[in-house]
Amino acid sequence: MHPHQLHATRAAWSLTHARRRLNDAVAQEAAERRAEARVVAAASSLQAWRPIPGPSGRGGHGDPAGRAVVDTLEPDVRDGRLARFAATTTQTLAWLADALRLPATSDPIHALGDAVPALRPTTCRELTLWLDEADTRIRDRLHLDPDGTDLPGRRCPRCARRQLTAHTTGPRSTWTVTCAPTCLCIGDDCPCGMDIRALDVPHVWGPDHQLTTTLPTAA
Ligand SMILES: [Zn+2]
Ligand SMILES: [Zn+2]
Repeated sequence: MHPHQLHATRAAWSLTHARRRLNDAVAQEAAERRAEARVVAAASSLQAWRPIPGPSGRGGHGDPAGRAVVDTLEPDVRDGRLARFAATTTQTLAWLADALRLPATSDPIHALGDAVPALRPTTCRELTLWLDEADTRIRDRLHLDPDGTDLPGRRCPRCARRQLTAHTTGPRSTWTVTCAPTCLCIGDDCPCGMDIRALDVPHVWGPDHQLTTTLPTAA
């Protein structure tokens, strides 16, 4: 694959993982909001049942059905901030998939990830920017580390620095290794060993390269 396609694949899997974490956070947020709403509903039910002092001295109460409603129905809870944030991210991905005329899938990130090998490298470069931006926003929001695992001791064949990162979130056939974003390919004369040496693309090695094939499975 072209390095732009490898970057898009890396970005798609990183975002897939970040969105899973976001979905977990959304579920937790919804549970908290439901619990809160239950407390509020119970309190207002108590309020409704409070004896009403009156001149007759007779105790009254509000809607007698109120207690039964609290016991049997989940209070209606509107989406919280994280849920709205997740929905916006999904809308962006759906818009991207639509703009690329990809077939509809249950989740647009699947369509985008699957389409990468068939997309032109220049399209993949743009797609990577969109996916990385969405990924960064989610990780900032949830205080997650960036995707990838440091590869201590391994040197970049271009810059010789030990700052390589393994991206192994998806299946093995999608794994990549990257150098720092500032380590750019110099084209045909570059000693990087990428299958396709593309001028000015940040170095990325695909699943067939020795840097990636030698990664331990549990990396
Ligand atoms: Zn490098
Ligand atoms: Zn290179």
